[in-house]
Amino acid sequence: MICRKCGSVLEERQLSCPFCGEVVASGKEGTAGKKVELKALAAVPEDREKLLSELQRLKKYFLAIRGKYGVMEDLWLMQLKWQEPSLIHWALGGFIVTMLVYLMLYGAGLLPQVALSFFFILWGSITSVGYIRSGRIYEARKARIDADLRNVENDVRNYYNQADACFLPLDYSDPRVIGELIHGIENGTIKSFQDYRIS
Ligand SMILES: [Zn+2]
Repeated sequence: MICRKCGSVLEERQLSCPFCGEVVASGKEGTAGKKVELKALAAVPEDREKLLSELQRLKKYFLAIRGKYGVMEDLWLMQLKWQEPSLIHWALGGFIVTMLVYLMLYGAGLLPQVALSFFFILWGSITSVGYIRSGRIYEARKARIDADLRNVENDVRNYYNQADACFLPLDYSDPRVIGELIHGIENGTIKSFQDYRIS
């Protein structure tokens, strides 16, 4: 069995792909917000000429949505870059801010009587308020990126499912990847689609 998303070879009884996490078995879960299930792969054309012409046909088909592959990539990158706020960073940043405030008040002769405990209270408040606030911003931003990504992924999946006789797993359907495949087969660096998939 072959993973319909990434093209890895799977054991017969695996329920999800160990490489990309794609659900393999057609489960009952098909509710809103879920990923559109990918349709079964067609057989890979046997001879070279047929393979090349089929790849050209599929490349043309997927070129129509090449913008969506770009958007998907951008969202993946954003998902990677956008990191969960760290309490330690906030504590360190809070310490520096507290020091500045403390020195300013000290210079102005405005320090309260219990100056040391004031320092820690200020430090604690800046750290926790900042950390909680950035946590909320992070959650909101993450939820939005996740939703945008799910939408564009499902658009691509629906379009993919409408492709006629598609033998390429989803991850190979990006027209740039198909272009590479065609190029490799034409100049002999790739013998067959199976070769390309394994490497
Ligand atoms: Zn996979």
